[in-house]
Amino acid sequence: MPPRLRILLVASEASPFAKTGGLGDVTGALPRALRALGHDVRILMPRYRGVELHAPDIKTIVPRLSVPLGDRIVEGALQETETAGGVPVYFLAQDQYFDRDGLYGTADGDYWDNCERFVFFCRGALESVIELGEVWRPQIIHAHDWQTGLIPVYLRTLYRDHPVLGSLATLLTIHNLAYQGAFWHYDMAMTGLGWDLFTPAGIEFYGKINFLKGGLVFSDLLTTVSRTYAAEIRTPEFGNGLDGVLEERAADLHGVINGIDYEQWNPAKDAGLARPYSADEPEGKAACREALRRELELDEAPGPIVAMVTRLAGQKGLDLVLEGLPTMLDAGCQFALLGSGEAHLEEAWMREAERYPGKVAVRLGYDPALAGRIYGGADCFLMPSRYEPCGLGQLIALRYGTVPIVRRTGGLADTVKEFDATRRAGTGFLFDAFASDAMLDAILRAVAVFRRPEQWSALVRNGMTEDFSWDASAREYALLYKKALRPTGPKPSRRSR
Ligand code: ADP
Repeated sequence: MPPRLRILLVASEASPFAKTGGLGDVTGALPRALRALGHDVRILMPRYRGVELHAPDIKTIVPRLSVPLGDRIVEGALQETETAGGVPVYFLAQDQYFDRDGLYGTADGDYWDNCERFVFFCRGALESVIELGEVWRPQIIHAHDWQTGLIPVYLRTLYRDHPVLGSLATLLTIHNLAYQGAFWHYDMAMTGLGWDLFTPAGIEFYGKINFLKGGLVFSDLLTTVSRTYAAEIRTPEFGNGLDGVLEERAADLHGVINGIDYEQWNPAKDAGLARPYSADEPEGKAACREALRRELELDEAPGPIVAMVTRLAGQKGLDLVLEGLPTMLDAGCQFALLGSGEAHLEEAWMREAERYPGKVAVRLGYDPALAGRIYGGADCFLMPSRYEPCGLGQLIALRYGTVPIVRRTGGLADTVKEFDATRRAGTGFLFDAFASDAMLDAILRAVAVFRRPEQWSALVRNGMTEDFSWDASAREYALLYKKALRPTGPKPSRRSR
């Protein structure tokens, strides 16, 4: 049995307590997989409004947690519960910051005080570790995205000589480089960090404080959620301005593909489906397709249902789909979209649904139950993303025998293999150029195979028998945690300045 690692996973969201996207899925599922490998992993996240719905038994363990915020002290509290899978969870409570309707903002935009909220969260996380003291002492902090980016900065500066925190190792995972947490420089005072850090070699980026950049510079190791994205973000095209920093840290930057929870996503046990099915007994999928057609008021038709379940955001390539829709429908496809997000995309898609009744179905909103029925009932799952760090939709689709049609970028390139009819190998269809012609070409290839039921069954089966469960990725993380841990003793500051 390898030695048990003590890992504190710090994130701004974790399923089931709070989730706005893939980040919450990952931080919800990875701890359980690490625990199954024997590691002692715990989660620390903000106590948002409503988390108690998923954790009836929350205990306050530190009623007054004093967190320095510039020249003030802000009081919070540390609370504790456990996930259904037995993973301990610490909530950092501070109602003025976190007892709100949203996690990061409203439909009108980000909360104005997000810098303050997440400075508090980062510093509060470290103060929590100090308070926990002998009760539980992590060896490594696994931080996620910009909301936790200041944690490695604090550890290598303000807390460098601290007896508990000084030897903590850090690993930061980038889930989406486009979100960086950039705030105006007046907020430097609130961070408590010296102005000597406000330089291009530190946390400054085009005149602003940049949380993510801080994490990229100061964390011991960096990961992102697929190998291809790890390589892409070192280039100007995908680097969002941080490609230079990432190139400098290339030796410490690793790609670890996300998994999905194979218990939660299982068409053989999914009570939401019209009929269960599996790779060995795939017949139930036809009933799921018919049920979905009825639910979405799509016509009876011999062609495939092509679906998307997605945030409606520029990243997701919906502009290509809008452009290619008439050709897709001419080829005999029907199109189903479940999504929420940017108002102009919502409006554009509602117009398409009106224009093509019985052929195009659009449902706006965030609806996990309907998402499940779409994964179950659709034939193809479309992801024409501009960029895609990992993508979970295609992994769920593979598990549900819904053939992914994806752009060859990021995690999509790493998880979907082009179908080769002669060898009956491969799991989906890929295209390279970010252009509707290229996308349509892939869709037409899919339609051609769909018309040959034997080939299609082989393709569906190939996808359903792939393994994108968390086990393999959790093992990779465990190896990286070990790599991040160095012999005991305070760590030097990453850069001399
Ligand atoms: P991202 O994190 O960029 O939004 P991912 O593919 O990594 O994209 O993860 C998206 C997750 O959120 C998937 O599990 C997907 O099924 C789910 N999802 C996205 N939009 C919706 C929606 N409108 N309703 C329900 N689930 C959704």
